[in-house]
Amino acid sequence: MKKYYLGLDQGTTGTTAMIFDEKWNKVSRGYKEHTQYFPEPGWVEHDPLEIWRSILDVIDMAATEAGIQKDELTCMGLDNQGETVMLWDKVSGTPVYNAIVWQDRRTAQYADQLANDYGEKIREKTGLVVDAYFSGTKIKWIIDNVEGVKEKIEKGRIIAGTLDTWMIWKLTHGKVCITDYSTASRTMLLNIHTGKWDDEILEWMGIPKSILPEIHDSSELYGYTDPLDFFGACVPISGSVVDQQAALFGQACFKEGTVKTTYGTGCFMLMNTGKKAVYSKNGLLTTVGWGLNKGKITFALDAGIYIAGAAVQWLRDKLKIIESASETEAMAKSVPDTAGVYFVPAFSGLAAPHWDQYARGTMVGITGGTEKEHIVRATLESMAYQVKDNLDVMEKDSGIPIKVMRVDGGAVQNEFLMQFQADILGIPVEVPVITDTTALGAAYLAAYGINEFHNIDELEQNWKLYKRYEPNMDDETRNRLLNQWHRAVERAKKWEE
Ligand code: ADP
Repeated sequence: MKKYYLGLDQGTTGTTAMIFDEKWNKVSRGYKEHTQYFPEPGWVEHDPLEIWRSILDVIDMAATEAGIQKDELTCMGLDNQGETVMLWDKVSGTPVYNAIVWQDRRTAQYADQLANDYGEKIREKTGLVVDAYFSGTKIKWIIDNVEGVKEKIEKGRIIAGTLDTWMIWKLTHGKVCITDYSTASRTMLLNIHTGKWDDEILEWMGIPKSILPEIHDSSELYGYTDPLDFFGACVPISGSVVDQQAALFGQACFKEGTVKTTYGTGCFMLMNTGKKAVYSKNGLLTTVGWGLNKGKITFALDAGIYIAGAAVQWLRDKLKIIESASETEAMAKSVPDTAGVYFVPAFSGLAAPHWDQYARGTMVGITGGTEKEHIVRATLESMAYQVKDNLDVMEKDSGIPIKVMRVDGGAVQNEFLMQFQADILGIPVEVPVITDTTALGAAYLAAYGINEFHNIDELEQNWKLYKRYEPNMDDETRNRLLNQWHRAVERAKKWEE
C-alpha cells in the first residue's frame, strides 16, 4: 500500500497542507490566506472559525491534487503559530473572542508590570523574557475583558488554547484537548524544567489551570480525525509542534549547534542546544524544541524578529509601491545600493536582541533623490541585518561558532535577499530542495509518532541542498553597513510612550 503523510502548517498569513509520499517526495500542496483583523492600533486578531474552514479547504486541495481520498492519508501532523491564543466554549464549540495573534501588543502595559514584579522568576521557570508576545497575558486579557467568560470558567465550560489545541479539538470533534511541550513553552505558563504548567505563575496571573490543555510529546498518537467533521475519514493525528520548531525538525537540525532561519511574516531563528537549556545573556529566549519519547526534551535558543516579510506586505498593501512580493527582487537589484536609506520595520516593537516594546518603524537617510527602489531594497536588507544581529548573539551565548545557516520560508525565493544575507553574515546560506520545511517537519513528527521510522537520525539523509549562497562582501563594506544599520536601530527605540 502506498503511504501519504500530511503536514499541515497553520501560519500567521495562511495555512499550507502538504502531502509527501513514502520516499518523502512532495506530492501536492494546498494553500489559503486568512483575514488579518486590526481592530485598534497594535491589535492583531484572527477568526478561529475561518482558520478551521481554511484547514479543511487546504487539505481538500492537497488531496485532490494528489488524486487520493482522505482516508488514504497514513497520518497527519500539524504545526501552529506558537503564541497566538484563544478561548472557546467547549459545550457550544464557539470561540468567546477572536484569536489574539502573537504580534498583538494590547497587553504591553500589563507585561511591564508583571516583568517588574516577577520578571526574574518567570525567566528562570519558563526561559522567556516577560513580554506581551506570549500567550499568558493574552489569555488574561480575554478573561478580564470579555463579558461572561469568568462565569463560563466557573461552570467549567472554557478551554484556553493555542491554535494546535483548537485544531486538534476540532478535528477530533472535541475528544482530544492537548498541546505539546514546544507550544506550551510559548505560553509563558510552562515550567520548562518540570514540563508542567507552573502553579505559581498561574496564580500570579490569575489563570485557572482547569482551562488549560494536557501537555504531551510533540510526536505520539493523540487521536483520530472524526469522520463526521473530516470528510468521512478517520486519520491518525500523531505530530504537533510550534511552526518554528517544525522547521528546525524539517531542516534536520537534530545536532547541538545547528541553526535554521525561517523567513515568513516574521523571521525566526532557532539553534538546537540539545539537552541543555542555555540561558542567554543577550536577550534570546530559551525554548523547547520538541519533546519526544515520553517527555525527553530538546532545547533551543530562539531569536524572533516580529516584522520581516510583513514589511514587504506593508509595501504592497499600505504604501502600494509594489503589486506583489516577488517584484521586490528585481527592484532591489535595479539599484546599486539603498543610497543611504535604512528602514527599521519595528511596527510592533523590537524583539531579540533589543526587546523594546515601544520601538516603532523608522526610515532614515531619505533625500530628495530617494526612489521607491531604494525603499524596497532597504526593506529587504532590514531582514538580513536583523538576522545578523541575532546570529552574533547566538554564537556568543552558546559558545559554538556557527558555520552555516539553513534557511526556509516564503521569502527565500528572493535571490537578492539570500545573497545579501550571506554577504552580511559572512557565512554560507543553504536553501534545501523542499522549502516548506515547516509542513515537512510536522509530517516527519507525525510519521515518527506512529513508528514509521525508529530513529530521527534516519531523516537526516532526506535533507537535500537546492542552492548555497557563498558570502562575497569585503569586511570593510560589511562593517560600514552594519554600523549605519545600528545607528538607525537606536533611532527607532523608545518611540511610543
Ligand atoms: P507565514 O508562514 O508567516 O505565513 P510564509 O512563509 O508563507 O509566511 O511567507 C510569506 C511572507 O514572505 C510574506 O510576508 C511575504 O511578504 C514574504 N515574501 C514572499 N515572497 C517573497 C519574495 N519573493 N521576496 C520577499 N518577500 C517575500
